[in-house]
Amino acid sequence: MNCKNCGMMNNIGEKYCKNCGCLLQTIETNNNIANQNTSVNVDKIVMPSMKKYAIFSIIIGSGGIICAIFIGMSLLISVFLSALGFSFATKGLKANKTLAVIGYALNGILLAIGIIISFLLLFEVVEPM
Ligand SMILES: [Zn+2]
Repeated sequence: MNCKNCGMMNNIGEKYCKNCGCLLQTIETNNNIANQNTSVNVDKIVMPSMKKYAIFSIIIGSGGIICAIFIGMSLLISVFLSALGFSFATKGLKANKTLAVIGYALNGILLAIGIIISFLLLFEVVEPM
C-alpha cells in the first residue's frame, strides 16, 4: 500500500513505511476520520529512529556554538545552522523530548550568539574575523 505520509509504495502486510517509518495501518484508519489532519496523527507515532534527529540537533547546536565562540560566525551561517538544528529537534521531539529540548536550547543560544556577533561587528566593537 502507499504510505499516506510520504507516498512511498510499501509491500502489503508491512507495518511501517520503509521510507519514513510511519505506521501504515494507523494512518490508513485515521484517514477515514480526519483527512486533513494526517500530520497530527503522524506526530503521535513514535519511532526509535527519530531519536537520532534529537542527537543531531544537539551536535549542530553545540558544534555551532563552539565555532561561533572560537572562530566567529556570520549571522547567515548561524541562522542557517540553528534553523537546521530546530528542524532536527522538532523531528526528534517525537522520540525523545529531553534531547530535543536540549537541542532547541543549544540552537537558540547559537542563533543568539550569531545575532550578538553581527551586532558587535555592525557597531565595530570587535574587528571583523
Ligand atoms: Zn512513508
